[in-house]
Amino acid sequence: MSQSLSGWGRYPVLDCELSQPRDEAALRAALVQGPVIARGNGRAYGDSALQPAGTIDMRAMNQLHDFDPATGQVVTEAGVLLGDIITAFLPRGWFPAVTPGTKLVTIGGCIASDVHGKNHRHAGGFSNHLDWIELMGADGQVIRADANSNPDLFRWTPGAMGLTGVILRAGFRLQKVTSGWIQQDTIACANLGEAMAVLEDTDAAYSVAWFDCLGRGAALGRSLVMLGEHAARDDLPSDKRHRPFHVPPRRRRRVPMDAPAAALNRFTLRAFNRLYHWNGRRHAGRALVDWDSYFYPLDAILDWNRIYGRAGFAQFQCVIPLQSARDGLHDLLGAISESGQGSFLAVLKRLGPQDSPFAFPMEGYTLALDFPVNDRTLALLRELDAITVDHGGRFYLTKDSRLSAETLRHADRRVAEFAEIRNKYGLTGAFASAQSERLNL
Ligand SMILES: Cc1cc2nc3c(=O)[nH]c(=O)nc-3n(C[C@H](O)[C@H](O)[C@H](O)COP(=O)(O)OP(=O)(O)OC[C@H]3O[C@@H](n4cnc5c(N)ncnc54)[C@H](O)[C@@H]3O)c2cc1C
Repeated sequence: MSQSLSGWGRYPVLDCELSQPRDEAALRAALVQGPVIARGNGRAYGDSALQPAGTIDMRAMNQLHDFDPATGQVVTEAGVLLGDIITAFLPRGWFPAVTPGTKLVTIGGCIASDVHGKNHRHAGGFSNHLDWIELMGADGQVIRADANSNPDLFRWTPGAMGLTGVILRAGFRLQKVTSGWIQQDTIACANLGEAMAVLEDTDAAYSVAWFDCLGRGAALGRSLVMLGEHAARDDLPSDKRHRPFHVPPRRRRRVPMDAPAAALNRFTLRAFNRLYHWNGRRHAGRALVDWDSYFYPLDAILDWNRIYGRAGFAQFQCVIPLQSARDGLHDLLGAISESGQGSFLAVLKRLGPQDSPFAFPMEGYTLALDFPVNDRTLALLRELDAITVDHGGRFYLTKDSRLSAETLRHADRRVAEFAEIRNKYGLTGAFASAQSERLNL
């Protein structure tokens, strides 16, 4: 069945032959048409889960197989949503050890992108909590990979964006938590230097900074830094202490239609950013926040990707190594502020080192910003690419929809070794996405 599909950014939109296998036999049959790519819940922003010849929707392979309360290890099929894991295990005191900013992602997607959260500096990426995977290769055989058997496939799959085969099942560990609540500290920072000082000095489990992209001069990098810790039962008010994992469901809203492009102009962005900062200053200090509002604020607004209009949006996310982070971020924020093309979402996180050889994180700072797609923003994004490369940074493939193969090669020397691993396992040509074809991966 051919269907128009896109990633979360709604750019690009491609007609793809779509299949939805319910078991291994159906998946094996779907592989024959090649090249193919697996798709989870479509939350990657660009074209990494799109293949016109064969896109395999894995969401029907969604069985939860096992849980070991002694180690916190869960065994699931790849199509299970992270949100379903939380629903099943938070009432028993367990939570994902690493989570992205949305729970509407599959376990296959979390592994293929090796997602990171606000605790990367202490907890690493999703792969740091992964014990084993089972993959279906081009010949339809199921291969188990862990630290001892097929170790290079195990190590290179996180961050490989589906290009090492279809993940069928995985065993990964959750973390034990004391409640479903987070003690959040909000700190208003006047500029980039202040925000980096807070992020550098904190030993809070979770940390993130939200930027007002339109601040200039002394206000460049004006931001709110939000720190968080899982609240202990004793930190909770008495009405919550007897049911520490119970959090009332949030009201969800829906963006009813595509916003007209003109709605997102420089003045609305400025007003939005100022309001957010002002509001944050008012609420600076400590607050008890439920897990859903803290980790997944955007999940409360269904279809929020429509606010950028029909043409869609692109997210820019890079990481700059620690030694050049201050200068690199200064140049990136300066170029954005200069262009006047701000972003509703500009997020800065401090990352720690990352072992997995093709994952995005490295020790340093990651900056993520959304832009509506148009000629002016695409030109700005190319400028941001060049600044990133100049400062020794690299790009997050799960957010990318428009990078060039040449820029990727300049930024990321691991690409050549990745191609060797793909060749070794007969994966080249069999697994390809619109992104891997654009980037010549
Ligand atoms: C609001 C929002 C906030 C986000 N915040 C963060 C964040 O803080 N940190 C972060 O790291 N990411 C973040 N992301 C990105 C998101 O976590 C990743 O893109 C994730 O991979 C999406 O999972 P998915 O199931 O939707 O996969 P898809 O978007 O469908 O696919 C993503 C990639 O995974 C591959 N894939 C999916 N399933 C399989 C499978 N079974 N086998 C092999 N490959 C597979 C696809 O081929 C594709 O390359 C965010 C995204 C959104 C929309």
